Amino acid sequence: MWKTRMFRTGLWRSRMWRCRLQLQFLNKLFLIVPCHRRPERCFHIKGKPMPICSRCLCILAGYMMIPFLFLFKVGIIWGLLCQIPMLIDGLTQLKGWRQSNNLLRAATGLISGSGLSIGIVSSVRVLIEVLKQ
Ligand SMILES: [Zn+2]
Repeated sequence: MWKTRMFRTGLWRSRMWRCRLQLQFLNKLFLIVPCHRRPERCFHIKGKPMPICSRCLCILAGYMMIPFLFLFKVGIIWGLLCQIPMLIDGLTQLKGWRQSNNLLRAATGLISGSGLSIGIVSSVRVLIEVLKQ
């Protein structure tokens, strides 16, 4: 019913409606990410927590490095080394030795996402070399 009213009134053309649809799409997309979704570990926008935690959000942001990494040759060892800060932060928090904060989670997540991007690009390069032969 809301769809017919939406089309009858021409509401679907409005900018606000399109923006709302895009946000709904992003929310559904974020639901794919396996995350604990604890509100205290999420960034907040206008008082509402984001659908995924700050660490996962920044890991996804780190994947934005993939196109740029094809321009440079970075060894996969750097990708592995980039996982160490997140592992230390996550494991020490899991053991209860210390409490992390959202800024640290975001920074380690971004480093980890960049490292995963290095791994993805390195794997694609190896795959291309194998397929060339
Ligand atoms: Zn998460």
